[in-house]
Amino acid sequence: VLRIEGLRKAYGLLEVLKGIDLTVHRGETVCLIGASGSGKSTLLRCVNFLGYPTEGRIYLEGRLIGRESGGKMAYRESKLCAVRTHVGMVFQQFNLFPHLTVEENVTIGPIKIRGVPPAVAHEKAAEQLRRVGILDKAKDYPSQLSGGQQQRVAIARALAMEPSIMLFDEATSALDPELVGEVLVAMRKLAEDGTTMLVVTHELGFAYNVAHRVVFLHEGTIYEEGPPQEILVRPRRPRTQDFLRGHT
Ligand code: ATP
Ligand code: MG
Repeated sequence: VLRIEGLRKAYGLLEVLKGIDLTVHRGETVCLIGASGSGKSTLLRCVNFLGYPTEGRIYLEGRLIGRESGGKMAYRESKLCAVRTHVGMVFQQFNLFPHLTVEENVTIGPIKIRGVPPAVAHEKAAEQLRRVGILDKAKDYPSQLSGGQQQRVAIARALAMEPSIMLFDEATSALDPELVGEVLVAMRKLAEDGTTMLVVTHELGFAYNVAHRVVFLHEGTIYEEGPPQEILVRPRRPRTQDFLRGHT
């Protein structure tokens, strides 16, 4: 469903991604791990075209998004908006609209961007809010919710756009420890429902239990990848071993 080929990204002279090839299949959950600064967020931002790749190709549902022209990539803004509606992104910060209720936060995208009739949007919002276990808060405002609840609303909001893939960038890192679990449970449920997900996380327990595949990024390259039982338990290569030692 998502295919990344030869992706490079530089900030000025600093090359952050040095040729990434990665496919996330339909229904697959891939966890992306790696040290701070290894390029995890940059990779997700390229998929969502929040950051422009320097080189490489990204396909979503078989369609090339962005195009190479003379070494530089050319993009049409209108196309980028279309791409973004097919990619659901959940960040560390929830970024809910504070002046809208939970329900309105979840319905505004489908109604305003997708042109979904409000009645249908509300029905679908209820379904997504139920999935993340927060339907009872539909009429509340974000400020009335805990961080864990707000993050689950953010997940429901992304799901409501019916994206081809969900991207998570350390979705639990900003939460108080006691609230991390409820968000991971919601994410696990999505994975079990067959949602296609690319998840950047420091929660190696989650990666072990939920991921179909774990990808270890080191200095902008995919250094080692495989099933969680391999990568997280008996990694073959030294940097992966160092990283895991630092996490136990
Ligand atoms: P973390 O685990 O800390 O979130 P990360 O793996 O997500 O790290 P990135 O945020 O992708 O790492 O950053 C990779 C490198 O790119 C870092 O060296 C960072 O300083 C650099 N970088 C990121 N964004 C920019 C930017 N907008 N301009 C210049 N350099 C940047
Ligand atoms: Mg990051």
